[in-house]
Formats: sequence, C-alpha cells, structure tokens
Amino acid sequence: MNDSLSCRENLLGLPRPQLESFVADLGSKPFRARQLMNWIYKRGEGDFASMSDLAKDFRAQLAVRAEIRPPEVVKVQSSADGTRKWLLRADSSQAFEMVFIPETDRGTLCISSQVGCALDCSFCSTAQQGFNRNLTTAEIVGQVWLAKRELGEFSTDSVEVLGDSHSPRSGSSGLRERAVSNVVLMGMGEPLANFRNVVPALRILLDDFGFDLSRRRVTLSTSGLVPQIYKLAAETNVALAVSLHAPNDELRSELVPINRKHPIAELLEACWHYIDEQNGRSVTFEYVMLDGVNDSPAQARQLARLLAGHPAKVNLIPFNPFPGTRYGRSPLPVIQRFRDELIKGGVLATIRKTRGEDIDAACGQLAGKVIDRTTVRLGSKIIGVAVSQ
Ligand code: SAH
Repeated sequence: MNDSLSCRENLLGLPRPQLESFVADLGSKPFRARQLMNWIYKRGEGDFASMSDLAKDFRAQLAVRAEIRPPEVVKVQSSADGTRKWLLRADSSQAFEMVFIPETDRGTLCISSQVGCALDCSFCSTAQQGFNRNLTTAEIVGQVWLAKRELGEFSTDSVEVLGDSHSPRSGSSGLRERAVSNVVLMGMGEPLANFRNVVPALRILLDDFGFDLSRRRVTLSTSGLVPQIYKLAAETNVALAVSLHAPNDELRSELVPINRKHPIAELLEACWHYIDEQNGRSVTFEYVMLDGVNDSPAQARQLARLLAGHPAKVNLIPFNPFPGTRYGRSPLPVIQRFRDELIKGGVLATIRKTRGEDIDAACGQLAGKVIDRTTVRLGSKIIGVAVSQ
C-alpha cells in the first residue's frame, strides 16, 4: 500500500550533489541545498514552513514537491542499562529495529540496512526471519535523524537524561554535546548486499553539511561480501568490521554460509586492501563466542595465526540467545582465556560488553517483523540474486 506522500521526494535520501540538482530543478541556486541541509541535519527541522531564511515561494514549492520523512515509530523500549530500542515501520506489514547504546564517553546508534537478511548465519535471529527488502537511503539516514530527534540532540532548550551512564550536556560553547556520536551498521541486514542505498547514506553521515560524523565514528559491519568490500574501498572510507566467527573455512562455512562463496583467505585479502586503500587503522573482526563450537584455546591460536602481523583487532561477542537456537553462550572464563590466547599470539582482542539484553536489543537479537518474505534463506547463493549493485 502506497501512502499519499510517496510521490514527494524524501530529502533524507539525497546526498548533497543530488539535493543540489533537485533544488536546481526547482529553479533555485545550489547554495539553497546547503541551507536546506543546515536546517535538516544541524537543526533537525522537518517542516519547510519553519525554515525562515528560505524564500516563501521556495518553501511553498518544497512543501508540494518534497518531504522530510523518517521511518514511523511503532514501539520504543528502554533497558535498565539505558539502551533504547525502536521498532520502526517500513511499510504496512514490515518492521525493522534500531538501537541506541549510551556510554560515558559516547552514544552509539546501531542502525539497520535491510528488512530481514538473506545470509542465513546459523546463530543470528534476524536470519531466522528471511529477507524482505532493502531499506532505501532515506530509511537508513532517517533512522539517524529520528534518533537524534528522539534523544533531544537537536533541541537547544531542553536537556534530556538518557540513562544512568550518559546525559548530553551543554558544552562551554553553548552547543549541546552529541547524543549520537557513533553510528554502526550492525542492525538488521547485510549492508553490502544493499550497496546502492547504503553508500549514499554513508555520504550523508560523513558530509560536513550532513551529520558531519568523523569516518572513524561510522562503522560498517559485513559478513564478508568480498567483491563489495573492494567496491566500498573505492567509494568511502568508513571503519570496517567483519563478522569472522571461525578460524577455518570448514567451521566458518557452517556458521556464515557466504564463506562457501568467499573463503577466509579471499576475505582477509579484501580487508587488507581496504585498509591500504583507505589509510585506515585496522579492521575489527567480530567473533561470536558459541559454547563448545568455536571457543577453544586451539581455535584462538589458529585465529591468531591468521591475523597476527596484520592491521586487525578482534572483538569477542558473547553469544546472545534467542528462542529456538541450538547454540549456547561460552562461559566468561572461556571467553577470557580465548582473549588471552589471542593477545599471546600477537593480536589485539577485547570482549564486547553485552547491552540491552532485557529488551532483546543485543547483537543478533534484532527481529523486527518480516511478514512477507520475498526471498528466504539465500545463504551462499546471495551473489547475483539479491545483491544490489
Ligand atoms: N550482516 C552484518 C551486520 C549485522 S550483525 C554482519 O554480519 O556483520 C552485527 C553483528 O552481530 C555481527 O557480527 C553478527 O555476526 C553478530 N551476531 C549475530 N547474531 C548474534 C548473536 N545471536 N549473538 C551475538 N552476536 C551476534
């Protein structure tokens, strides 16, 4: 079902050059695009009528031809630890999730790139639902815009306390500190399978006239779509995280089926290329700790041999269970031993603190709601079928 506004251009989907063309089509000068971006991304204004330094007839034209429309909020949940999760509507029956994780020194927003996911990783709850569709650029950017609004980051007169460990304060300059200081594409979906919409969204996140985030504060996490990692290196320079989860192909192919198409050696080569090309610091390898599956000291040593000497760090994620899963979480001493083996083997390793568990907002627990599965469980067959170029 299309709603009545859908013929208007949603400006949240337009990076600066495209917004300039849009404005030019309306007969205005390109600098109007920068003014518009200032209202949208710096002030959080969603109503053209309130954009007081734009000519009245331009505002009237915009009201007819354009809109600033973030995803609609279906439900908000708050965790005891301050984490917040929003269920957002994609269209009449489909929903997806985003999560805000406040910490003392930063606020991380975890956003989705697809409704569901086609990659079929065996330990991930999103995979259980199958795949429905790619999110649009406006829906990806709209999550960040919406979160900043909901967290009170745009407002100049009210200060909202976000949780025990984080409260945005006014700095000495009078400007509010950022509630959302970091954005990670680690919600629902495989961002590199939605390349066409994700890359323009990254541009808006990084643009000085957009959200103006530093490239080190925007992280894209992928299960390992090798050709798209090379393409990404040519297009942007955000931080890269890769879901590795196993130290050998046999086990990785079982956990992350895309590995059958792009094995570990190829994947690592693409990662080192990305770092070289982007003058990046290191790739973060995510490794979910599954009890008795991938968590032995011998497997840690095997992993260290793969990564030592390369620009890599490992983030160990305690497995977050969900109904029906066959996996269990490795006990903390096992995770610590694994970390210590990695460090002994010359690889930087940390253990990810699990947040928002009481509201199912932790890694791999984002479920949303995929009712109409247009594609289900593509797994290793995804290339050439559902990957948008
Ligand atoms: N598709 C992308 C991004 C989404 S997942 C990717 O695969 O990287 C974000 C991270 O959560 C990934 O590292 C993923 O492997 C991990 N994850 C998935 N299910 C999990 C679970 N049940 N417990 C802990 N981490 C999980």
